[in-house]
Amino acid sequence: MELKLYDTLTREKRTLVPLDWENPAIRPEARRVRMYVCGPTVYDYAHIGNARPVIAFDVLFRLLRLLYGPEHVAYVRNITDVDDKINARAAQEYPDLPLNQAIRKVTSQTEAEFHHDVAALGCLPPTVEPRATEHVDDMKALIERLLAAGCAYVAQDHVLFHVAAMPDYGRLAKRSLDEMVAGARVEVAPYKRDPMDFVLWKPSKAGEPAWPSPAGIATPGRPGWHIECSAMSWRHLGETFDIHGGGIDLVFPHHENEIAQSRCAFHIPFMARFWMHNGFLQVEGEKMSKSLGNFFTIHELLQDWPGDAIRLAMLQTHYRQPLNWTEAGLREAKHHLDAWYSLTAEVEPGLMCADLLQALLDDLNTPKALAALHELRSEAAKGSKPAAASLKASAQMLGLLQRSATEWTDWRPASLAIDEASVIRLIEARTAARKAKDFAEADRIRAELSGMGVELKDSKDGTTWRVTR
Ligand SMILES: [Zn+2]
Repeated sequence: MELKLYDTLTREKRTLVPLDWENPAIRPEARRVRMYVCGPTVYDYAHIGNARPVIAFDVLFRLLRLLYGPEHVAYVRNITDVDDKINARAAQEYPDLPLNQAIRKVTSQTEAEFHHDVAALGCLPPTVEPRATEHVDDMKALIERLLAAGCAYVAQDHVLFHVAAMPDYGRLAKRSLDEMVAGARVEVAPYKRDPMDFVLWKPSKAGEPAWPSPAGIATPGRPGWHIECSAMSWRHLGETFDIHGGGIDLVFPHHENEIAQSRCAFHIPFMARFWMHNGFLQVEGEKMSKSLGNFFTIHELLQDWPGDAIRLAMLQTHYRQPLNWTEAGLREAKHHLDAWYSLTAEVEPGLMCADLLQALLDDLNTPKALAALHELRSEAAKGSKPAAASLKASAQMLGLLQRSATEWTDWRPASLAIDEASVIRLIEARTAARKAKDFAEADRIRAELSGMGVELKDSKDGTTWRVTR
């Protein structure tokens, strides 16, 4: 079975042959397919656009585990826990705490929320989830290497990568240096030799997170963003590895800069063999933005939809295509899952569907894989037990149908969940109002309960209630 993946760097679909499998020095039992995916910056709830790479690369992770065995796949997804956005958020949320404590609160809460959200979307935890703040020494070691290689320089307590030191800088983005200077919002700073040069290390102001600086710089400082991923992928996967993934918005400058750093630090021809990027996400045909009011966090969506439905809605579009996120798409996904859960409730997972596997082996063609599931569903609906068993196994391979059928049917949106204690409290308040002949208040409470979907029935024995939706 050959897995073909599209590589953004070479603009072609190729068969994946993992590096360890080509290396006779590595014993078969020690071989690993190695994949790195850029993870979240933990300062706020992840939005639905952030969920896309997490789900897309989870499908790839599951497929690699199936093809090579779980113990032969290393999937590293980092946590960016040092960033100016985090500092700003921490100062705003906890103005009374020292900044370092406030930052720890923000990053640990956001990280826990992220883990909760992506688990609800059916994603497996990666093999390793390194935090940037735990790899500052690795970053400094890389910076020292880059200085020694003449690819970086020190200026005004900053260390900068000198882009001109790398002749084929811009290969991933397919842009020349001149085009990049013209097109990018490049920060022109007095300490830069060239406008495209980027920060590897910068000085910290008083109170900001700070570490002893590399390169003999006296002022304590902190790393730039790009050096993080070069350091963490190196530490956990080695100088070169098989797959590097992320959203298409990371191609330039983040991934371009990761390549520059890693290749120049280790004098290697490539950093990752495959560069994989998921496409943009729009909401109801428009760019998602807070100002347009169409901005959804995963946390919010999970209040109204089960995680399986969000995941399935996401997989209906091929990962490289732009995705139009719509409520209609979610409703349709929920509808399919209602049928799949009910048809597979009584069966054990059976044989994996060959058409589904074939589709996934072709650069993760999930729309085609789902078409195979729809066919199995029609056979299962006609009473075929093997089709139902295969539907279950195949959907689970995609990270769907992970719960019991009862759990699925019992699921309610948070807006429809009834908090029994507050219903009882309101009924008691209404009874008291009626006793006091305050019928206006009693009617108001009845209306409030009705708005919550609670219907009251009065009798001589008292008031009973039932949920109407
Ligand atoms: Zn990264």
